[in-house]
Amino acid sequence: KKTAKGKPRRDATQPADIAISHPDRVVFAEGSITKQEVADYYTAVMKWFLPGVIDRPTSVIRCPEGADKTCFFQKHLMQGLKHVGSAKLKEESGAQAVYIYPLDASSIIELVQFGVLEFHPWGSTVEHPDKANRVVFDLDPGDNVAWERVVAAARLVRKLLTQLGLESFLRTTGGKGLHVVVPLNPGCPWPMVKGFAQAFASTLAQAHPLDFVATATKSQRNGKIYVDYLRNSRGATSVASYSLRARAGAPVAVPLRWSELGKLKSGHDFDIHSTPKRLARLRSDPWKGIDDVQQNLDNVMKRLA
Ligand code: ATP
Ligand code: MN
Ligand code: MN
Repeated sequence: KKTAKGKPRRDATQPADIAISHPDRVVFAEGSITKQEVADYYTAVMKWFLPGVIDRPTSVIRCPEGADKTCFFQKHLMQGLKHVGSAKLKEESGAQAVYIYPLDASSIIELVQFGVLEFHPWGSTVEHPDKANRVVFDLDPGDNVAWERVVAAARLVRKLLTQLGLESFLRTTGGKGLHVVVPLNPGCPWPMVKGFAQAFASTLAQAHPLDFVATATKSQRNGKIYVDYLRNSRGATSVASYSLRARAGAPVAVPLRWSELGKLKSGHDFDIHSTPKRLARLRSDPWKGIDDVQQNLDNVMKRLA
């Protein structure tokens, strides 16, 4: 593979030779976690993290003064980046903009050097931006929803997807909820994916009106779980697996086996310290096989109807 500038790619996970300025700057006040520790975290999980972001247009959350100060959600190329791919892409509105995409470990560490804490890839790659190869059902519990109900919701989403012939994968978000991720191969055009995600969410909300809502209106979410299907359109993003979150305690979005769901206590069970430890203990990838799954939406819409 070649980089954007045509240079041959080095081993993508090789620790990057990029200087971190202000390494001792505390970026997570709780736990006094420094910028250097953030770089060390991404280096430690690099081999697991990269496959989820490499070659995907990726928005980032930059917190130049730390996670508890002002952070910026940035979709477009920033000046001064030398180790990151860039691609001019049409936005859903039709306008063009220059997006960034990680090439290798250097891209990630350079972005950390630029103050990035979180990574949010598209569900498609720069090579085929029009074809989604990941669908994300983002389960967002409203107020007054006990954790057990979020767990049950994820199980139900998985069951319904299985009935539609779709295999799915689970991850914590590092926040309040869970993501259920459906790989597509070959990829599907975004309008089809968006239609499916919306139809799936409405079906769920109609069948279980006390548990789910499929409308974004905040006031309707109390006591219910919002099935946020809006992660699924051209240019929409969801947090990357193994990304840190710019929230108190430096939590991490972590892929899990379905068999681990019952043990979870929250969407932020894992953090900057426990995630590398978990990975060191793992015998195999919790999302093993995700890239080998052959499934798409061709027959699914009919079954859903
Ligand atoms: P939680 O479990 O707490 O819901 P989450 O990552 O699913 O965590 P959401 O608020 O449900 O958080 O989803 C927000 C998603 O929307 C993010 O993952 C991000 O990719 C995307 N997003 C789009 N625009 C923004 C923005 N301006 N700021 C933050 N996220 C944004
Ligand atoms: Mn969410
Ligand atoms: Mn959401």
